[in-house]
Amino acid sequence: MPCRSLVWFKRDLRLRDHAPLAAAARADAAAGIYLIEPDWLASPEGSSAHVAFALEGLDQLRRALAARGLPLLVEVGEACHVFERLRARFPFDELLSHEETGSGWSFRRDRAVAAWCRRRGVAWTEFPQTGVVRRLPSRDGWARRWQARMDAPPVPTPEAFRGAAGLPLHDLPDLARLGLAPHGKQLQGAGEAPAQATLASFLAHRGHDYLKSISSPLRAERGGSRLSPYLTFGMLSMRQVHQATVAAIGAREEITVRRALRGFAGRLRWHCHFMQKLESQPSLEFRNLARATDGLREGEFDRERFEAWCAGATGYPMVDACMRSLRATGWLNFRMRAMLVSFAAYHLWLHWREPGLFLAGQFLDYEAGIHWSQMQMQSGTTGINTLRMYSPAKQARDHDPGGHFIRRWVPELARVPLPLLAEPWRMDAAQQRAAGCVIGRDYPAPLVEEKAALARARDRLYAVRREPGARAEADAIQGRHGSRRSGLPSTTRRRRRSATPSPQSDLFK
Ligand SMILES: Cc1cc2nc3c(=O)[nH]c(=O)nc-3n(C[C@H](O)[C@H](O)[C@H](O)COP(=O)(O)OP(=O)(O)OC[C@H]3O[C@@H](n4cnc5c(N)ncnc54)[C@H](O)[C@@H]3O)c2cc1C
Repeated sequence: MPCRSLVWFKRDLRLRDHAPLAAAARADAAAGIYLIEPDWLASPEGSSAHVAFALEGLDQLRRALAARGLPLLVEVGEACHVFERLRARFPFDELLSHEETGSGWSFRRDRAVAAWCRRRGVAWTEFPQTGVVRRLPSRDGWARRWQARMDAPPVPTPEAFRGAAGLPLHDLPDLARLGLAPHGKQLQGAGEAPAQATLASFLAHRGHDYLKSISSPLRAERGGSRLSPYLTFGMLSMRQVHQATVAAIGAREEITVRRALRGFAGRLRWHCHFMQKLESQPSLEFRNLARATDGLREGEFDRERFEAWCAGATGYPMVDACMRSLRATGWLNFRMRAMLVSFAAYHLWLHWREPGLFLAGQFLDYEAGIHWSQMQMQSGTTGINTLRMYSPAKQARDHDPGGHFIRRWVPELARVPLPLLAEPWRMDAAQQRAAGCVIGRDYPAPLVEEKAALARARDRLYAVRREPGARAEADAIQGRHGSRRSGLPSTTRRRRRSATPSPQSDLFK
């Protein structure tokens, strides 16, 4: 029986280390397909920047595959409908893809495709491509499995395919044809070649001061890897990054460089650790992980505060600079993302779901498993993490001591003296006139008073944590999702560290 294979590209827009492609190279006839799905375009977390980035990567991938004889169709439509139509021209009997741990709409679509495959007698094989384990019974031993997958040899890249003949290859659509507005962001270049170049420059020199660079929004721009969008869209595999990093560590003698790259290597595991949470509990995209925190913020959503936060007009310069920078570039370093969310959750008392949707649309690297886990973690709704309340003024002093980042993104404050730059409302009237920045006219007055807002947030959250049942729930969450890194049973570890929550411990500052 001849075998006809369809490779379904999802978030794996690359040629190298690609198991579905390698399997398709053995078929008697093969084609590739990428779907631009209406559910994706309409999803509240989606954005035209995501689509533009995928299209740029697809353009390169399509040419690389064509040179090897594999046609890559790019179709707009709902998965089962497109597959059904395609079968009339190309009666594929095998569907090959990578596993996907994505937003709710992609989970629902995968279930519909699985049912369609069963009805049509198409064999769908899904290959893992990260450290995420499907149907994981327990977190025990997860790190070992991650290591084994990452250390396995990369999948060889096929040189040639027996491509299916006569398939219609339309031009790639542009944003306007898809009914999407221009995104207006300055994005990093998409595709396998820019991804490889970014990895190479990071390991060769940019990453040598990684641990000292990543907290500052200015220094992390260069000193962080900037690989996140490539990992999200699969323009690099996690295994490629892991193995290149291990090789770079082995090739260097300087202890500081080795330490820096080891710190980076650890974060690659975090990537999968967080994605695993969503894989194991898809509801965390929508519902508080700790149900004890249900109702705490939901009924008090203040839209005006939310809109000021989205616009970068809270009156807190470090928050506003981060938001404006993110909106312009699609990227922000970890600490500043955490600060933005902490500000929304504690200062503004906003439930995480709407801020999370807004940020997902802004982050070019939106990865549902990391994103929603982090949104909940930084908002205090996981029940197991220390509450981290960031002071924007302290973040500015520590990570933008010269005020360059704030002045770049909040030009209204360009002439405010450095000692007052992080808290411009402290300027007296004469200082405001001299700086050409009258608070409340040229730049907003602070949206909330920090000390009172944080005291209230802390009181309410700790009151919930003290409620009967909250501890048992936290233990269950820890057992299901917690890291087992130290080898101690994780619940024991948590109890030893924070038997009673201390108000001091929450000031991450
Ligand atoms: C509220 C919030 C939302 C976030 N949403 C996303 C998201 O949607 N997609 C995303 O890739 N990252 C997300 N992160 C994690 C982190 O901020 C980004 O991975 C990082 O800023 C990307 O820049 P980089 O590639 O230069 O990172 P590097 O510091 O160079 O890290 C290398 C890689 O390790 C992984 N990584 C780094 N930090 C983390 C972390 N804390 N948790 C999990 N993985 C990590 C990422 O894959 C990253 O690309 C979020 C963090 C917060 C606080």
